[in-house]
Amino acid sequence: MPYDTQPTASHFINGEYVEDTSGTAIDVIYPATGEKIATVYAATPAIIEQAITSAKAAQSAWAAMTGTQRGRILRRAADIMRERNHDLSILETYDTGKPYQETSVVDATSGADALEYFGGMAATLTGEHIQLGENWVYTRREALGLCVGIGAWNYPTQIACWKGAPALACGNAMIFKPSETTPLCALKVAEILIEAGLPAGIYNVVQGMGEVGGALVTDPRVDKVSLTGSVPTGRKVYAAAAADIKHVTMELGGKSPMIVFEDANIENAVGGAILGNFYSSGQVCSNGTRVFVHKAIKEQFLKRLTERLGNAVIGDPMDPDTSFGPMVSERQMNIALGYVEKGQAEGARLITGGQRLDREGFYMQPTVFADVTDDMVIAREEIFGPVMAVLDFEDEDDVMTRANDTEFGLAAGVFTNDLSRAHRVAARFEAGTCYINTYNDAPVEAPFGGVKNSGVGRENSKAAINHYSQLKSVFVRMDDVEAPF
Ligand code: NAD
Repeated sequence: MPYDTQPTASHFINGEYVEDTSGTAIDVIYPATGEKIATVYAATPAIIEQAITSAKAAQSAWAAMTGTQRGRILRRAADIMRERNHDLSILETYDTGKPYQETSVVDATSGADALEYFGGMAATLTGEHIQLGENWVYTRREALGLCVGIGAWNYPTQIACWKGAPALACGNAMIFKPSETTPLCALKVAEILIEAGLPAGIYNVVQGMGEVGGALVTDPRVDKVSLTGSVPTGRKVYAAAAADIKHVTMELGGKSPMIVFEDANIENAVGGAILGNFYSSGQVCSNGTRVFVHKAIKEQFLKRLTERLGNAVIGDPMDPDTSFGPMVSERQMNIALGYVEKGQAEGARLITGGQRLDREGFYMQPTVFADVTDDMVIAREEIFGPVMAVLDFEDEDDVMTRANDTEFGLAAGVFTNDLSRAHRVAARFEAGTCYINTYNDAPVEAPFGGVKNSGVGRENSKAAINHYSQLKSVFVRMDDVEAPF
């Protein structure tokens, strides 16, 4: 890789890089060129054992530190991440293909936000005192123990931090397994945490495919699993975690609706649709890929959308002017192109795009279908690529029923200038994260997560603390114990 601060080995365990080349080799491909830029090796059983043993050994001393001490380390790591934002963003672009224009403002910065936010919160985590006459109960907020994080490939730095920061703030240890498609960034997060003063063994990274994830999830020494991935993987991981009644957080897929009413500000609605379909080449879980546009403004919406898509700068992701990069892998590009074929075969009207670009790397055009109907495959299945489906509607009740008629429930958006309608619609959406006149904001201060098949649990915000800690109730009696005999 033409990059001098890349990770130096496959795994990061007990405070240092660890290599074991007897594991399956995983080529790391730069999506903009298709070139191999690194090789990592999947964790062998010995590597997994080493990670679990060192995390278990280190965790109780970490939990015994004060929240202020733990938080200081996380906040120091946040500062280092911000100082190294440029290098981390370049690595994120190598790992994912996302344009530097995005990675330089979204990935390490969002990871740093999580470290700073949960670092700040660590000292405030307390139990409560519950008076019962002369007696009382107090609760202790305790760490779960060893948490496993399993990541998707679209936001490797962010996911490593969104899981790691709250876990560590609560006094847990973590073993993070990145997606095999983007294995590099999480290693830098581990390196930075150690540099910030994190004790060895508290945050470890091991590489591998589903089997390595599966081995971690089924190990009885693991107390919690947090997965970001697809619904089918979520089902498997949730079921495996159930064997030992492990805690779980599931951040899964979506096919989210975005409703544009006739009174909406069209420029903002088009902007929201662009953000919610084409940012990161459409590879965002919460994307609003079913865009319901009121019939009265549909052609105007499509005209402005097409005009604005013409301004996309598609090209070298390292060029700061590039605003639309390649897809993460040839496989993912072919999946998305396959859906374009399905859309055409089903009779949807291709408004723009639909083609692979004639250049090296895994580029396809931003694609918009209109006249999409609810039963079409492109309106029902998650594509996870730059393919937007525009559907017509005329009536609010009808569009609400259609918007909610999906197995998923990750996100939903509404564009309207009618304040009452906006809140009424948001309340009726069956989704964990809703947007009014905006789309895809994900600040660390707000809970993020899905309902229905899109997942359980919440990341970010104070809510995440409940998913990385548990309460112990301690009863204290001051008077005599009354026993029946
Ligand atoms: P994926 O489900 O194929 O893989 C996710 C992770 O799970 C990978 O690290 C993979 O190696 C691992 N894995 C696979 N099988 C496993 C098993 N049996 N046991 C344990 N681990 C296993 O998903 P992907 O293709 O990497 O990512 C895309 C998906 O992720 C999309 O569905 C997208 O919507 C979803 N996603 C969700 C969120 C969210 O926050 N809700 C965010 C980003 C991506």
